[in-house]
Amino acid sequence: MRRVTFPHMGNLCITVKALFESLDVEFIIPPACTKRTLELGTKYAPELACLPLKINVGNFIESIEKGADTIVMTGGCGPCRFGYYSEVQREILKDLGHDVDFFVLELPKGNVGEFIKRIKSIVGNKSLLTVARGVKKATKVALALDELDRLSFRIRAREKIKGKTNWIMKKFHHQVQKVKSAEEILMLIENTKKELKAIEIDTKVTPLRIGIVGEIYTVIEPFANFRIEEILGDMGVEVDRSLNIGNWIMEHVIKYALGMNKNRPYEKAAKPYLKTMIGGHAQETVGNCVMYAQQGYDGVIQLYPFTCMPEIVAESILPTVSTDLDIPVLTLIIDEMTGEAGYRTRIEAFVDMLMRRKERNVAVDKYILSGN
Ligand code: SF4
Repeated sequence: MRRVTFPHMGNLCITVKALFESLDVEFIIPPACTKRTLELGTKYAPELACLPLKINVGNFIESIEKGADTIVMTGGCGPCRFGYYSEVQREILKDLGHDVDFFVLELPKGNVGEFIKRIKSIVGNKSLLTVARGVKKATKVALALDELDRLSFRIRAREKIKGKTNWIMKKFHHQVQKVKSAEEILMLIENTKKELKAIEIDTKVTPLRIGIVGEIYTVIEPFANFRIEEILGDMGVEVDRSLNIGNWIMEHVIKYALGMNKNRPYEKAAKPYLKTMIGGHAQETVGNCVMYAQQGYDGVIQLYPFTCMPEIVAESILPTVSTDLDIPVLTLIIDEMTGEAGYRTRIEAFVDMLMRRKERNVAVDKYILSGN
């Protein structure tokens, strides 16, 4: 029997765990990304490859060390390097003497049956209906995880005793490794939500609100973004993450496969600045930045890995969005040389600036209302 592994990307490992457990697939969850994961990837991947490719090479090596012999990952299309990832990674692993099987799940437009058939080629002798049920359960888990994260972002910014949300979320991520089946994961999520809701919060504070946009891996994987949601939340900032695993599955797998992916809100919002999809998540970055401005957010942070082509294009557009819609934008570019201290300092300075900006705006509003 195959022992399947996959890239580590935030909550993806919990979602895939739910899928593979419901389909009786033997799998190895890649160990959480660490300095060693990055060092392995940096050592064996080409120097100018994007950071996610390097971290994923490290993930695969660590999973192979634990016994994995098959790698599953999604494939990409469009004008960026993601489409080459699997081939490059296969060659790197081959050079290192790991002759593993690669299954690339490219998303077949307008043909959900074809997508399920591809999953079937990994899971073996299971009926299409069983696979479809597994996909449905995993999607439910992914969407519940998105909701749990959103709740933690709201509570963390308002908690009276700092660190409580972090502690509960850490406990959740530890416990979820041990539970079996999608049903048990969903139950654990529900219990964790109850624990979060029981945290004492300061109802009088109106926290700053910051939207996170950018390249999907750096937005979603906490190791790559130095746990930016916790950094901001601990400073009393409420975060919204524009990209999430559940939302990504709905938009880019299910709706895409069903041909229902027209007129997405971010595409409409991005239109005056970026009319077409240029690869990666550039159009989402621009569109979501516009929508955050329209929703009254205090600022936006764009995250992307060094040399990410689509996000470089988005970065060149964001100053115009920022001026047109009066929303401050901070861009953080991450690579293996990024130091946490400098990264934190930039975030702290941005939050400080947003805080002063908000106080000034409130003072101006009060002055106008007072009729002076
Ligand atoms: S989106 Fe950016 S980081 Fe991801 S593969 Fe494309 S160029 Fe690399």
